[in-house]
Amino acid sequence: MKENSIQKISQMIANTAPQELTCDEVFQVLHQYADIVSRGEDASQLLPDVHRHLESCPDCREEYEALLRAIKAK
Ligand SMILES: [Zn+2]
Repeated sequence: MKENSIQKISQMIANTAPQELTCDEVFQVLHQYADIVSRGEDASQLLPDVHRHLESCPDCREEYEALLRAIKAK
């Protein structure tokens, strides 16, 4: 993924939800988030809102970890 698509995701999140993300919104970008992490980039810097949600939401966290395992298993 190119850097400007990360910006697009960030903007999309910023436009739709200024503060807290919903689980639906997190799910929409979760695979990109996992992708960023799997490349060793700092997803908590690039997508801080998603990072914060994952810290506080066990459901999304579980989904995220499953995605990460799937990416790494490739
Ligand atoms: Zn959630």
